[in-house]
Amino acid sequence: MSERLNYASKALTPDLSAAFELALADARDGDLAPVQHVIDGGPVAEGEIFTWEDPAAAPGRVVTEAHAATPDVVGRAVAAARAARKGWRALTGAERVEHLRCSQREFDERKVEIAGVISAETGKSRLEALGEAEEVVDLVKTYADQVEQSPESFATRMNTADPGETNTDLLRPYGAFGVIGPFNFPAALCVNMSAAALLAGNTVVLKPSAKAPRSGALIGEVLAKHVPAGVLNVVQGHAYVGQALAESDVDGIAFTGSAGVGWDLLRNLAAGPYAKPVLAEMGGKNVAVVGRTADLEAAAEGIARSAFGLSGQKCSACSRVVVHSAVHDDLVDRIAARVAEMSLAAPEDPGAFLGPVIDGVAVARFERAAELAKKDGRINAGGARPQGLEGHFVQPTLVTDLPLGHELTREELFLPFVTVTCVDSFQEALDEANATNYGLSAGVFSREQQEIDDFLDQIDAGVVYVNRRSGATTGAWPGIQSFCGWKASGSSGKGGLGPWYLQGFMREQSRTLPVS
Ligand code: NAD
Repeated sequence: MSERLNYASKALTPDLSAAFELALADARDGDLAPVQHVIDGGPVAEGEIFTWEDPAAAPGRVVTEAHAATPDVVGRAVAAARAARKGWRALTGAERVEHLRCSQREFDERKVEIAGVISAETGKSRLEALGEAEEVVDLVKTYADQVEQSPESFATRMNTADPGETNTDLLRPYGAFGVIGPFNFPAALCVNMSAAALLAGNTVVLKPSAKAPRSGALIGEVLAKHVPAGVLNVVQGHAYVGQALAESDVDGIAFTGSAGVGWDLLRNLAAGPYAKPVLAEMGGKNVAVVGRTADLEAAAEGIARSAFGLSGQKCSACSRVVVHSAVHDDLVDRIAARVAEMSLAAPEDPGAFLGPVIDGVAVARFERAAELAKKDGRINAGGARPQGLEGHFVQPTLVTDLPLGHELTREELFLPFVTVTCVDSFQEALDEANATNYGLSAGVFSREQQEIDDFLDQIDAGVVYVNRRSGATTGAWPGIQSFCGWKASGSSGKGGLGPWYLQGFMREQSRTLPVS
């Protein structure tokens, strides 16, 4: 695949589209063996088999079978990662980059295959799945480039108070990291955390989501193949496998997932004799603020793309709009018109803009939210399950007239569901925008420079966009935007994809040595 995609891409060449369809069919019907763990460089087929079904089909179409790790399997994977720490950290940054560049090349060669597996397991549209496979490559590249630019392990020569001494400050790896990934970017986010941990000099035990085990296994297999045995291990399974990993002898955890799980991990790992690092990137309730002078066509497009792309299952999805009353009705009509044009379909349909949600639990969450919206507000578009589609499909839904502070405007739903709140001034809009515990991404649409400046100064979010038609709150890309969650959305104050992420996987050591 020579064509380069990102999350703002709107079309594919016919060749790439056809190649994707073959890869999707292979992933669905390829009669693949159950997914195994990887420990110390080799496959391990232990533990009961669990299954994952295609969310874009009637119940019963199993796309993946996988072995669920037992406590013993987790223990062995962690022991392998701990044993490999010394050798891996002894390499220079440049040597580690060489290993990871091999993975980068293989990811590049296998992008369409990876996209097919992602799409089979999550129901992602072809543009979203191929975009994710492309991001996998760019994530490794971005972090490898950063290490190349700091060849001496981020070492800083310090001042000296004694002519007989030299003082150096450096960043050193923690040791072995447990890496726990979510379902919605099942390849890219496992690669994001694992590649950063590895390039920083840590070894890894990766636990992908049980809702996309083959996606995690595929990228885990590639990463493991190009590093020494034990440096990258993979264990598969449900929440309890992540829990066992977090409670094990790892030196730190990198987690991407929901805020409830992430903050529990942080509290639990702080409760031992000393706090281990937990780099947690979590959910969002991302807002688009629309001022009275905004270009409403651009706002409607940016909001609709961010609210409904990937069926609202991006951590950066726009799930709230706060708009000035002077343009409220006009904006709502324009968003509703875009919803009416959206194609909701399975990924084999080349026109699909959004696909299914991930499982029956998400559908039940949608049905409850729609009921609540009907009772306490007004549904302007969607609000039901579509006719004639088998699988976990729900309509893109636009809701207005909810009372200020309503739970649908505060809690993350992770669905194609957006609320619009009407206010009478830009300052009120900013206050309402900040009135959630989350602080991941946010966008503003305005033609007034003062409003844009006020937004940038006051908004509590780590990823912000101004007048962005291609996505009001979504579309961050490695090396272009960083992806930092504030408040309940992140624990470290530094984001993946950006210039400070790698350093989170290292701790500082000051070295004072005699002049020889
Ligand atoms: P989740 O929290 O349910 O699961 C994430 C991972 O944690 C899975 O591998 C799961 O098996 C594991 N897990 C669950 N309970 C655990 C426990 N008690 N101990 C250890 N591990 C446990 O999240 P999800 O549904 O897979 O993903 C969606 C969530 O992730 C949303 O909230 C979304 O906003 C968030 N997310 C955030 C970012 C970001 O960068 N900020 C990116 C993607 C997704």
